Amino acid sequence: MSRITSGNLGFPRIGKQREWKKAIEAYWSGKLEEAELHRQLAEIRSEHWKLQKNKGIDWIPVGDFSYYDQVLDTAVMFGLVPERFEYDGGPVPLETYYAVARGSKTAAASEMTKWFNTNYHYIVPELGNREPELTANLPLQAYREAKEKLGIDGKPVVLGLYSFLKLSKGASGNLREWSQKLLPLYVRVLRELEQEGAAWIQVDEPGLVTFVSDEDLALLQDIYRTISAEVPQARILLQTYFDAVERYEEIVALPVRGIGLDFVHGREGNLQALRQHGFPGGKTLAAGVVDGRNIWRSDLPAVQAFIDEIAGLLADDSDLIIQPSCSLLHVPVSAQGEDGLPGVLKDAMAFAEEKLEEIAALRQALHGENPALLAESRQALERLNADPSRSRKNVQEAVNRIAQQPAERLSPFEIRHTEQQRVWNLPLLPTTTIGSFPQTAEVRAARQKWRKGEWTTERYDEFIREEIRTWIGIQEDIGLDVLVHGEFERTDMVEFFGEKLPGFAFTKGGWVQSYGTRCVKPPLIYGDVEFDRPMTVKETAFAQSLTSKPVKGMLTGPVTVLNWSFVRSDLPRETVAYQIALALRKEVEALEEAGITMIQVDEPALREGFPLKPADRGAYIDWAVKAFKITTSSVRDTTQIHTHMCYCEFHDMIDAIRDLDADVISIETSRSHGELIQSFEENTYPLGIGLGVYDIHSPRVPSEEEMMAMVRRALQVLDPKLFWINPDCGLKTRGREETVAALKNMVSAAKRSREAI
Ligand code: GLN
Ligand code: ZN
Repeated sequence: MSRITSGNLGFPRIGKQREWKKAIEAYWSGKLEEAELHRQLAEIRSEHWKLQKNKGIDWIPVGDFSYYDQVLDTAVMFGLVPERFEYDGGPVPLETYYAVARGSKTAAASEMTKWFNTNYHYIVPELGNREPELTANLPLQAYREAKEKLGIDGKPVVLGLYSFLKLSKGASGNLREWSQKLLPLYVRVLRELEQEGAAWIQVDEPGLVTFVSDEDLALLQDIYRTISAEVPQARILLQTYFDAVERYEEIVALPVRGIGLDFVHGREGNLQALRQHGFPGGKTLAAGVVDGRNIWRSDLPAVQAFIDEIAGLLADDSDLIIQPSCSLLHVPVSAQGEDGLPGVLKDAMAFAEEKLEEIAALRQALHGENPALLAESRQALERLNADPSRSRKNVQEAVNRIAQQPAERLSPFEIRHTEQQRVWNLPLLPTTTIGSFPQTAEVRAARQKWRKGEWTTERYDEFIREEIRTWIGIQEDIGLDVLVHGEFERTDMVEFFGEKLPGFAFTKGGWVQSYGTRCVKPPLIYGDVEFDRPMTVKETAFAQSLTSKPVKGMLTGPVTVLNWSFVRSDLPRETVAYQIALALRKEVEALEEAGITMIQVDEPALREGFPLKPADRGAYIDWAVKAFKITTSSVRDTTQIHTHMCYCEFHDMIDAIRDLDADVISIETSRSHGELIQSFEENTYPLGIGLGVYDIHSPRVPSEEEMMAMVRRALQVLDPKLFWINPDCGLKTRGREETVAALKNMVSAAKRSREAI
């Protein structure tokens, strides 16, 4: 093997202080001129390039920056603006760009969906009747900018044609046709980059880690053969990430100069393939060895040994690039400011900046130097591992025990259902809501005052009680059958529990982009998680004391807590899920003890942990379902367990949903109603179920008739004795007036639907 260099795949665009978000939002609200927005974003971009250079990265990505989303950029670069937006070709105005992302007065936004198995969401390109054209060579612009401004010879990043087509809407069935239309434009982009002098061009093809059919493979081969024939000089680095590449032998044989593989999230698969089939001589291997998805430091001596092993498998004329496993878009910018955390924790963390330092140190080590960071990283991890928070013996024993046993309710659903009906005697088609009621500016201000110490806890608690009292009254007036306390005391459904559970920590500035300018700050799970004290009993019991109707207790489920956090990497995720599940089980028991006999355990993010490869999904579903059941199975038959899910396609998950054995599930359906109903036609659903009858994402108040139509459709395939009526999701983001009006219509719709049965 000849040369070892260091690279990066992408840098978080949001900025240390979320300057990016602030600038764009100021522009949206009219407070910032377009020219000033360009200036501020160019500034951020330059800062990030400089930073990467100073950290010692050889191959600095350019063109990964975006004004919103990199997939939208690609669509817009090819003039693929959906037809419902006004656009006559040529460069796409910024206003149109944002209209596609966020909708305009006259046209609905493009759909947004999860970027593979991350919590990043991209704008789904729509391939309609517009002829694609090259409206601007964005990677070329970025390449020039970095060179002219900073003398940096960047590595342009382009989303590959294969993945772009796979991620788009409207291409299925005519992938080939679209490929033929777009390929000449791709060739132009690459040719211009090559002529400009780009030494490497990173072509991202993450689509290659999910299932690749024979037909897909043929298409892929055609694409890259054409590119290689048309632009033979372009040094293309075909980059995969998030898992092991499918069809390894064929992919590494494609006529490109370099192949990027993820040796963190696809370690087993990629390593095995490399051992078995070797790596073509003369090609460069870009090895993702530092986790780009998590916030922990790497055990650098171990990584160094691992790289040695890989290097040993390469031919003499193959080069090696050391890099993160994927773009650093998925981690926060810098761990430097996190002084609020315990030292042992802070020392063991690495965000984007620190990960680049790791890459640079590894490169040095491979050149025979011995940077201090290597030994330091291991010591820091050893200190964290030795921390008492990681050796709660009682937790570990309890988890081991529970993992061995089945987690089943006392009796099967039919018996529970009868028992529960005997206690509550609910009408047919009972009505309820999903948990939260409007979090008004007043509620948020009250929490701020309490957090800042301006309000005492007593005063804040009294404020919350007042909100609960008001909304119990409102719910009774509306005539809902099962009430909720409204979740006024919670900011975020995961953070609220994390703050009360040992084993969690919260960063000051650990933001990552979720979609557009929306950023989230995931909690860290670093120690053994354990129940400490009741977390929701006070508010729930208070709410129940105000009414004779049942009040549902409201918890966030273990899998959702896990999937929306940065999780320790010394334990299998399954084990961490069981720890959380056990802690929540105690909360469920405490609620039951306090007389709350309907308890909802939300799992909106159950599907977010879905592995990319179909073959891995069964194992995930098994432990995810088990974690839910650990939380919910120890209650009496008369205690009714509810769950709720949203944000996703469920049609391939009906079996898993049934296996949860929840007495009642409510599912968001507004965005995929037809599909869901269809899957229930094929699989009868034998437990309680509510398919959301209206979309809470819009302030529009739906009519009774509309909702009755939803109910009628659902009852064609679902048992009316098991059917519930509820909105799609929590009402936290809605205003009070529209919420009350919509729920009144919903209750009337339920009454009239009952009469029709
Ligand atoms: N109970 C939560 C709420 O109503 C559920 C939120 C969610 O599904 N994302 O806000
Ligand atoms: Zn929801």
